[in-house]
Amino acid sequence: MKKISTNALRKKRQELINELGAFDGKILRGSIIETYKKCGKPGCKCETGIGHGPKHSMTINFPKRKPEHDYIPLEYVTQVTEYVSNYHQFKEVIEQICAINREILKRREEL
Ligand SMILES: [Zn+2]
Repeated sequence: MKKISTNALRKKRQELINELGAFDGKILRGSIIETYKKCGKPGCKCETGIGHGPKHSMTINFPKRKPEHDYIPLEYVTQVTEYVSNYHQFKEVIEQICAINREILKRREEL
């Protein structure tokens, strides 16, 4: 980052801030799990296969309390998957903004 002018860094930071806005709040933190269940009915094809599904659910971990777990209705799976992916990108953009701010601070210039 050394060769970039501080003003260029501030400009880049503004672009990143705009990127954050573009997510429009469409973020979700957590991990999505797909499960297949055996129904237990004698003669059902799931007896020998992987089971019925997939059913989707989401687990969200928290620092000092137990994780939240919820089933995701099928009609929301695509959206939720997108939101979770957005969350990772969102975090990455925040990290880039922090890196720019660290660099400007190192230069002892106005943040
Ligand atoms: Zn079955």
